[in-house]
Amino acid sequence: MPINTRSLRILGLLVLPLAATTTEGQTHTTSRIIVSRNGMREAQPAPRERFTGVARVSPFFESQAREGVRPSGGVVTFEAGARTAWHTHPRGQTLIVTAGIGRVQRWGDPAEEIRPGDIVWIPPGVKHWHGAAPNAAMTHVALAEALDGRTVDWEEQVSDAKYAAPAAPGVAPLSPAASGAAGGTAGATPSRAQSLMGDIAPKLAQLTDSVLFGDVWARPGLSRRDRSLATVSALIAMNRPDQLRSHLALALQNGVTREELVEAIIQMAFYSGWPNAVTAVGVAREVFAQVPR
Ligand code: MN
Repeated sequence: MPINTRSLRILGLLVLPLAATTTEGQTHTTSRIIVSRNGMREAQPAPRERFTGVARVSPFFESQAREGVRPSGGVVTFEAGARTAWHTHPRGQTLIVTAGIGRVQRWGDPAEEIRPGDIVWIPPGVKHWHGAAPNAAMTHVALAEALDGRTVDWEEQVSDAKYAAPAAPGVAPLSPAASGAAGGTAGATPSRAQSLMGDIAPKLAQLTDSVLFGDVWARPGLSRRDRSLATVSALIAMNRPDQLRSHLALALQNGVTREELVEAIIQMAFYSGWPNAVTAVGVAREVFAQVPR
């Protein structure tokens, strides 16, 4: 199947060829600020030659005058099971995960799970792939600079066998260890949900990871900080100290301060009952003692 030039540009997230031939620091031809409106940039299906499964690419820089601008990048959304082929970047690449659960793998190493907020640096010349987890979609921003007009060199597809190999989980979002408190070994431990119920109810663990944390918690309509505050409040109201323990630690990671958590407990005393608030104070004391400021 022939590859048209538009696909070629998109699949490599290449800069416009023009940009590669201009000198650094050249004055732009226009002084006009260009706002590219949300929803007005067209997402393209990722080309089958370079991806497995369904992925869409929305380039950041394609539509505008870009003389003298070297960064290249875009948003890439992978449906569950979708991934790039193996490839390298001559000047490296930065991935910023914005939704879902994904994987990244360096040739010769096990794949590693990546989650929203994770930032991945792939050094120049390192053979790798990135994409979604088998049961969850993933979206990332990809940024690279061109060398001699190229941002990527493609190699073979990632086989189903290689893709199916177990991945090292990223930092477990439910676990206080994720904040560095409990001596957790990030990148080598199962998720909190898998530890809690993976043996007895693996489907519930998978739904917790892929739907609750991979989808609901990743939705952009509410910040993770605000989701934490809502969740902590609900757990106080229901008097669920076990879940509250995990979620107080997660709330601190998500930017809710200790003082704000205490205020939430005080507030909830009046809406959910004094005994619930007292229990929450005890749990908060434990969590605050474990998590370094
Ligand atoms: Mn890459």
